[in-house]
Amino acid sequence: MSELQEQFEKLGHTITPFGEITDAVLINTCTVTREADADCRKIIRRAQKISPDAFIGVMGCYAQLRSDEISSIDGVDAIFGNEEKYYIPELIGNFKKRNQLGIYVGKLEHIEFHGASSSDNHNHTRMVLKIQDGCDYVCTYCTIPAARGGSRSMKFDDLRNKLLALNQTDFYEVVLSGVNLGEYKAPTGENFTDVIKLIDSLDLKLRFRISSIEPNLVKPELLDVVSRSKKMCPHFHIPLQSGSPEILRLMKRRYKLEIFTNLVQNIKSNIPDCCIGVDIITGFPGETDSHFQETYNLLNELPVSYLHVFTYSKRDGTAASEYPNEVPYPVKIERTHKLRALSDIKKNEFYTSQISKIKTVIPERYDESTGLWQGMTENYVKAFFQNHNQNSLVKVKLLRQELNSVIAEVV
Ligand code: SF4
Repeated sequence: MSELQEQFEKLGHTITPFGEITDAVLINTCTVTREADADCRKIIRRAQKISPDAFIGVMGCYAQLRSDEISSIDGVDAIFGNEEKYYIPELIGNFKKRNQLGIYVGKLEHIEFHGASSSDNHNHTRMVLKIQDGCDYVCTYCTIPAARGGSRSMKFDDLRNKLLALNQTDFYEVVLSGVNLGEYKAPTGENFTDVIKLIDSLDLKLRFRISSIEPNLVKPELLDVVSRSKKMCPHFHIPLQSGSPEILRLMKRRYKLEIFTNLVQNIKSNIPDCCIGVDIITGFPGETDSHFQETYNLLNELPVSYLHVFTYSKRDGTAASEYPNEVPYPVKIERTHKLRALSDIKKNEFYTSQISKIKTVIPERYDESTGLWQGMTENYVKAFFQNHNQNSLVKVKLLRQELNSVIAEVV
């Protein structure tokens, strides 16, 4: 449950799902791409249509950076920045529709860490736990540091207590998350490797997954601790963004290409069954056909397991938005499609390499038409299997691959 949700429930409010008629709507926004901004505007208009008499508050990253755009949308009563959103009841008093728009967006200079955790699947078996927020990097395409502020982290003692509390719930898996998770630094000095050591030192039934971590932050000690851990899932998701040294330099990423290629090889030699996902951006300004081909060839050759491919979109206020040599939209899209097709190939190769292995799955969803459960193995293989013992970890043997999944049997 998010800190905000908890705060409202304590004040006696009832939280209803989006789409129901209600007295007040609070919309938490994202601004990572142009499409995200457009989606936020659509959702605000939809909320207005569903509950025309409701107080409508808009908060989060888009609100932090573009309160001017939001204020032009009819029906919005208040806009809250990323720090102010934690003080909404104090700021506005009551949730009555207002005659005048209130804008509560301050600078993000001394922003505190606010924890959040939420279920990320329908069956409430996997929990996402935010332990770090904000970012001190200056990647030239990214609005997040401006929208979220500098890096800050959950206190180490709070983390210990949170882990022990989560262990008492029905969740089986915790995804450790943050904007730049590898930069975790507790006020008492502990770093992200210490977080993994803490997890291993506690008597927990939970398994843990790292949401995403920058390549320069997977230091040998961290890789060593993860590879020996009994609780960490063998799965890394690493934002590479481009396989061209020239484009990485323009993006002001904090690593050379060799860091990434060596890392992938090291992960595979330490943890052979490890799943490695990679984020890539296509169509960054100045990305020529030959830069793109470098990216494609690199990912084709490396033992990575899947790609998350994003098409570059220009964000006002970023350094890259001023760069020359924009890539035409159709070219960006074509590159995105090529890499998504490569991702399917890589995923199927990875899944094939896992056939006959015994893995542990958390049943997440039941499909009535097939009578099969779906769940992810510790190394992120999507498996379908027959299961009668619904709420538990299940050991399965991976039998055969089908498109983007594996059929398994309980052992
Ligand atoms: S590390 Fe991630 S969040 Fe930070 S500036 Fe770069 S892309 Fe943005």
